[in-house]
Amino acid sequence: MHSIPKFSVVIPFFQEEENVEKVIAAVVNVMKTVGELYEVICIDDGSTDNTWSILQQEAVNRPEIRAFQLSRNFGKESALCAGMDKARGEAVITMDGDMQHPPELIPEFIRVREENNANVVEGIKIDRGKETFFSRLGAKTFYAILSKFSGYDLTGASDFKLMDKYFMNAWRQMPERSIFFRGMCAWLGFKHAEVPFEVAPRKKGKTKWSFFSLIKFALSGVTAFSSLPLHIITISGFIFLIFAVILGAQTLYNKLAGIAVSGFATVILLLLIIGSLLMIGIGITGEYISRIYNEVKMRPRYIVSQSVDKYGSNSEE
Ligand code: UDP
Ligand code: MG
Repeated sequence: MHSIPKFSVVIPFFQEEENVEKVIAAVVNVMKTVGELYEVICIDDGSTDNTWSILQQEAVNRPEIRAFQLSRNFGKESALCAGMDKARGEAVITMDGDMQHPPELIPEFIRVREENNANVVEGIKIDRGKETFFSRLGAKTFYAILSKFSGYDLTGASDFKLMDKYFMNAWRQMPERSIFFRGMCAWLGFKHAEVPFEVAPRKKGKTKWSFFSLIKFALSGVTAFSSLPLHIITISGFIFLIFAVILGAQTLYNKLAGIAVSGFATVILLLLIIGSLLMIGIGITGEYISRIYNEVKMRPRYIVSQSVDKYGSNSEE
């Protein structure tokens, strides 16, 4: 029988060969000072560089490290999910594998949790680090839209969190396939506490977010948390109905009065406006249908292809 660790630290890695060793060493050092039983769960999210071989090596050398490789790149959210599923600890700590989430803060997370008797402690970004003007603006707009639509204010939220066993049990009851970690954590409720932190600049390598992946992330965030866009279509339909009644009455009056020739520009404008609104409406409906389609397929959130893990079978799963 292996004894249950008190803490599981979950770290996703994608193309992080230059950071893996540093991050693991830093986390292990910090966890040693905590003085409780712990494990570090490293997920390789389908990297094509040396990330996996380094992780394998680390897991072989250090007993407290468990490494899992996903069969392809599933995205950070799914990688986090895999790690949280594997975690055996009473509390789970999630953090990035690029040193942007300072491991030295882990004891602070633990302290804040005990002090506030909280179920979740969240790292809140007080400074978004070195970001371009556009990514700052993008993040701001996204959070503004999301909080309007869903009622959850996630400004400054990060994936640097400590979650207790009650929270983890609740998390495990969420069956959806497309995951939006921060939003789902906000939805769960529970008693939250915060630890502010400054985002350190990325140690090595570069961010995996491209402009389009960010837009996709934002879209899935909004569609996962709000059906308001669907209602907006209905509402704009009604607003147009009002105009239709007014214009219809005017047109009828003109016809009856025998003055119904001019107004060609109006016709074209109305055609264009209504045409584009219809298309947007169909598009928004389509976004939701595609989400439903993805959910009903019920595919697993991730596939583990290999692992170095003392608690499971030691190779393929
Ligand atoms: N990551 C991942 N899968 C991906 C993209 C990123 O597991 O498809 C990991 C990455 O290795 C890092 C963390 O998620 O540990 C945060 O990624 P990144 O630094 O690119 O995001 P940012 O800090 O810019 O939000
Ligand atoms: Mg980063």
